[in-house]
Amino acid sequence: MVLYMKVKPENRQINKRYRILLFYKYVTIENTQQVADWQRGLCTRLKLTGRIIIAKEGINATIEGSRKSVEEYWTQFTADPRFADTHLKMSFGTGNAFPRLSIKIRPELVSLKLGEEDFDPNELTGKRVTPDGLHEWFEKQNDFVIIDMRNDYEHTIGHFDKSVMPSMKAFRELPHLVKEFENLKDKKIVTVCTGGVRCEKASGYLVKKGFKDVYQLDGGIVSYMEKYPKGHWKGSLYTFDGRVAMDFDNGKHEIMGRCKHCAEPTEMYVDCADPTCHIHYLSCESCLKKTDYVPCCSPECEKVILQMTPQSISS
Ligand SMILES: [Zn+2]
Ligand SMILES: [Zn+2]
Repeated sequence: MVLYMKVKPENRQINKRYRILLFYKYVTIENTQQVADWQRGLCTRLKLTGRIIIAKEGINATIEGSRKSVEEYWTQFTADPRFADTHLKMSFGTGNAFPRLSIKIRPELVSLKLGEEDFDPNELTGKRVTPDGLHEWFEKQNDFVIIDMRNDYEHTIGHFDKSVMPSMKAFRELPHLVKEFENLKDKKIVTVCTGGVRCEKASGYLVKKGFKDVYQLDGGIVSYMEKYPKGHWKGSLYTFDGRVAMDFDNGKHEIMGRCKHCAEPTEMYVDCADPTCHIHYLSCESCLKKTDYVPCCSPECEKVILQMTPQSISS
């Protein structure tokens, strides 16, 4: 039996009783299994959901819970000296931003698969510019270029002024895409990504490839937006959780995304329910309603879906 799911837009509404924590730390973890077990016990006890990746090179996490639970979590987490100075990004959740708790041990925090060329970001990484510093560069019209290290579908609903957006489908494509911006080798460059974890590696990689003046945005785009909700960021920020898009201006920004069906402004990403297609695309709510909240990216996909069996409603 083939199944498809309906999208329930109300599941994406912000609920201020919940918080989402986003953080990473590049630090050597000798016993990854021990850290994974500790995290599982702690998150389960505090009823937290989300994704935690643990590797020999560190930890990368995004988790959701009530305000009280996440505070307790953070106290426990940072009591470990390895994680004491971890930079935390916190925003409002939905109460159902993640379907479950997933804790995985992986070879890398972010998959770049450099193999022999791999390096430790504690030894090689770009210089750091704070959100304040970057804002000042914008205001003073300094000569710099932003390279957005996120995937192309993330750029669509929001990005910085003055940014170069490589046609990246997945972060591991970076080594093949460097040629798209090789002409910037002598420029002052700032790499940006959601919370900063991808830039630790990306900025180091550019330094390794001979780029002369490479910075990374400390704390990522989310830290800049939090500090400067009316700054030089246009649109909203793509997230890999149930919110899909987030902002710090209560929705007062310009909507950059366009509905694939009718071209109306929208920030609602859906996945085509045809399992052979399954593209991630933008739809407005009224177009989604036409197919009874089952995302169909094209009439062809709709035909396939009509022959399938519906699964219970899900976000
Ligand atoms: Zn539409
Ligand atoms: Zn499709």
